[in-house]
Amino acid sequence: MAIDSDEIRSGADELLDAGAHDRLDAMRHSTAHVMAAAVLELFPGAKLGIGPAIRDGFYYDFDLPRPLNPADLEAVEERMRAQVVGDLPFERSELDREAALAMLAEQGQDYKVEIIRDLPPKASETVSFYRHGEFIDLCRGPHLETTGRLGPFKLLSSAGAYWRGDEKRPMLQRIYGTVWETQDDLDRYVWRLEEAKKRDHRKLGRDLDLFTFHPESPAAPFWHPRGMALFRALEDWSRQVRREGGFHEVRTPSLVRKELWEQSGHWELYQDNMFVLDDYGHPSGAKPMNCPQEILIYKTRLRSYRDLPMRFSDYSVLMRKEVTGALSGMFRVRQLIQDDSHVFCREDQIGDEIDLALRLVRRQYEPFGMAPRFKLATRPEKRLGSDEFWDMAEGKLGDALEANGVPYEVDPGGATFYAPKIDVFIDDALGREWQLPTIQLDYQLPQRFDLEYRAADGGFERPVIIHYAIYGSFERFTGILVEHYAGAFPLWLAPLQVMVVPIADRHVQYASRVCDALAAAGLRAEVDDRSERMQAKVRDAQEQKVPVMLVVGDRDQEAGAVSPRLRTGESSQGIPLAELVEELRGRAERRELWPYAD
Ligand SMILES: [Zn+2]
Ligand SMILES: [Zn+2]
Repeated sequence: MAIDSDEIRSGADELLDAGAHDRLDAMRHSTAHVMAAAVLELFPGAKLGIGPAIRDGFYYDFDLPRPLNPADLEAVEERMRAQVVGDLPFERSELDREAALAMLAEQGQDYKVEIIRDLPPKASETVSFYRHGEFIDLCRGPHLETTGRLGPFKLLSSAGAYWRGDEKRPMLQRIYGTVWETQDDLDRYVWRLEEAKKRDHRKLGRDLDLFTFHPESPAAPFWHPRGMALFRALEDWSRQVRREGGFHEVRTPSLVRKELWEQSGHWELYQDNMFVLDDYGHPSGAKPMNCPQEILIYKTRLRSYRDLPMRFSDYSVLMRKEVTGALSGMFRVRQLIQDDSHVFCREDQIGDEIDLALRLVRRQYEPFGMAPRFKLATRPEKRLGSDEFWDMAEGKLGDALEANGVPYEVDPGGATFYAPKIDVFIDDALGREWQLPTIQLDYQLPQRFDLEYRAADGGFERPVIIHYAIYGSFERFTGILVEHYAGAFPLWLAPLQVMVVPIADRHVQYASRVCDALAAAGLRAEVDDRSERMQAKVRDAQEQKVPVMLVVGDRDQEAGAVSPRLRTGESSQGIPLAELVEELRGRAERRELWPYAD
């Protein structure tokens, strides 16, 4: 059962485990101490929560008499700088449990007292503290040598956060900060944050009229005409890649009775993520994935070894009962469509089919200018199947990766309990890593559904299923693309590819003919026939990130020509219409990464 993980891996407030500390983590945690000392100087009597290093930075929680404002953060930063100049050593000390509790109680640090009380007594016979200057904190360490060793830092924001994430407990003030080895690293990180904010797909989706979300249908996108044009461009390309790969498209029902989900194991393992409803007395589930239904198609007749591999693609609507309220836009939706693929094959075909899957993944990502990376997830400790089985399966996946000549990493123990898999990743323009779907080998569903085929010797054998999607869900991939391109899509993807801009009202008729010629060539074009000045129309089209603007005036009209301006700034004049239409059609059909700013 290939359940793809819809997790964004970068930018998460991921707590680092105690074993993962390296120097940068120690610096981040040390900076959190320095920040806490500064906050205590400004707010004597403030109570401390926790202050861990996180991915790309750190935070600390404080119980304060009032919420913090940006001026407070500046004041905290200033006092932090004074500590750096002071070059104060971090000194470790230990106290036995009772002495530690007494000291913290005397300081009024109730949350720290609670932390120690919750430790298993064995682990807290003695507890360690770190001191720098006047500030002392319950802490496991490690820390840098002195406060003078901190790299360039910046406080980013503050927000309310319940103690221990429990809304019945007090609301603390959490200050987020970041610190890096060099000023360059810090600048780049701050640029990335600002850029990510500007590129937020929820904002751009609305500004560019692509899609919106509405509380009437939580966590499910409403695709506007322009968004649908983008969706179709993605879908056409995916279908072309599947056709080249020898796939046949199927479509299967959304509402499926419980019995099928019981047989597939979803009823037991995945029911919490399914919309379950009553179909006139028959408990049914809206499908969260396509595999069991495609198996029913497979089983409609006796298959022979010559029929295999059978490759199905499926673009059906899936429903997943995700928790709503998370503001993740397209990254976590309850209704989605995948470019789903299932291959039913013989065991001796696994190598070739994995090889094909890898080639299709690389091919499909090519026109986006993205190079996928691969990770081979191998046998976990708790698993089904013999060592011979795992040797064989991992060997075939590894061989296919080698045959494709792609760099890949091994993720030891990362496989699902029933078979190895290949995880696919891409990096976007901001250097964020995204996990894409998985190429999953599956012996489980064939067994649960008792699938077979007639072998060459007349006996019956069990096929294997390979599950994969390439984009994953169109919804999530659209979110990634909007942020990757900051809404400035290459021509082949752009919802509106060409805006025709008549200079004056007397050019509108000719502009319409230009638009018709573009449409006849399969290009998405509109005429801006508002009575605005030409410069204003060009600026608006530029803001909508339309790749090509065609300005038409007297001379163009007489000559049957157009004067193109690209979103990237280049322009030319008096190009014959037929020539330009042919050029644009060619670039769109070849799915070129064009026009491209950098
Ligand atoms: Zn510490
Ligand atoms: Zn599947």
